[in-house]
Amino acid sequence: MGDIVDSIVSGTFDRLGISGSLGDRLSRVERALESMVPLELDTGETVFFRGFRIQHNSALGPYKGGTRFHPSVTGEELSTLARLMTWKCSLLDLPFGGAKGGIAVDPHPLSSGERKRLSQEYLLRMFPILGPETDIPGPDVNTDSETMGWMADAFSKRTGTWRPDIVTGKPVSLGGLSFREEATGFGAAEVVAAILGRKEEMAHPSCSIEGFGHVGQHLAHRLSERGFRILAVTDSRSGIVNQGGLAIGELIRLKRQSGHLNHPSLGEIVSPEETDRVSADLFIPAALSRSVSPERARGLSCRYVVEAANDPLTPEGEAILLGRGIPVMPDILVNSGGVTVSYFEWLQNRSGERREIKRVKEDLSARMTSIAEEVMDRARRDNGTLREAAYLIAVNRVAIAQKARER
Ligand code: NAD
Repeated sequence: MGDIVDSIVSGTFDRLGISGSLGDRLSRVERALESMVPLELDTGETVFFRGFRIQHNSALGPYKGGTRFHPSVTGEELSTLARLMTWKCSLLDLPFGGAKGGIAVDPHPLSSGERKRLSQEYLLRMFPILGPETDIPGPDVNTDSETMGWMADAFSKRTGTWRPDIVTGKPVSLGGLSFREEATGFGAAEVVAAILGRKEEMAHPSCSIEGFGHVGQHLAHRLSERGFRILAVTDSRSGIVNQGGLAIGELIRLKRQSGHLNHPSLGEIVSPEETDRVSADLFIPAALSRSVSPERARGLSCRYVVEAANDPLTPEGEAILLGRGIPVMPDILVNSGGVTVSYFEWLQNRSGERREIKRVKEDLSARMTSIAEEVMDRARRDNGTLREAAYLIAVNRVAIAQKARER
């Protein structure tokens, strides 16, 4: 993931005149903790895994970021993701800095009891640098609301006080928001609508979506509610195409029931790659990082690319798209609805006042729309890309706060 983020941040530093000690301060991670995390297996044997928490920058507030359990987790990867969180929180004007954590483990073979013990041991190892006003973890790859509930419980047993604001993404019964799972897709749809809202020729845009998981499904649902036509959808195994527009509600129901997209009653079943030949106004990658290679970027038939996934373009792929006059709506803006709703959850936990889902949706929609408009205005004023504009806003806000603290 380093390339696009590193190069855009270094270009942004140049544009904002950030160099010397401030540049150093904003580039380096402030604190990193690595610990061996012990796990007592159901057999009684104890095994150890590498656990990390990387805190990039806290100029705007406590660190915030997810916790991933995956065998490929390294400190380096988490450092890049922690930086991305700093810029994402800043762009959305949230009072948070950026962090990321995780364990280098494949949790799939573990029993529920083993995953619980591992999550709670991880929390205890990271305890010295976590806290509701210090660093607030959330879920990420292979962790979920159950994991967050276990972590909140471990923190509270350690301190002797129930503090639901130590993590976000918890079960509703422990102070979480039921809307959190929908939030990223919903927020992405609001950004798309705000950006296309200014283009009269895009009255009923058509879309092709890669990836039909949490983000892809909720995004497709919200876009179709807004009158967008979804012509093609893929998952890792197949694609489904309907030039008249897919019945998204039914497709989501069948995908959840069966686990696949192989439903010929709703459209033509093709391979994932074959959906690239579908011509649609929007191509929306919502699956893997780096999925748009230069060859693919040359072949895509679309008017916009919407980065619902994190880092879905290769740097060369992005250059080709921009060269073909296809603007990119950047991940830092498009998929930031999740962390925004995590902020609402944290506020709810701190105030003790329950937030109505209706209000959460309205607040999210208003915030995503106004930030998308700010990014568009900035891009137009500077004659730059949406990504450049988003980073100029995000990095500038952190730089101002950092300078104010050190004055
Ligand atoms: P998910 O695991 O729920 O869904 C991923 C989907 O991608 C699945 O449908 C899977 O089958 C599909 N997929 C995998 N390989 C594919 C391929 N080669 N071709 C087509 N489809 C393929 O994950 P998610 O939570 O929806 O996250 C998707 C992306 O959004 C990731 O990049 C993630 O980092 C990013 N993101 C997610 C959130 C969130 O709140 N979930 C927030 C910000 C960013």
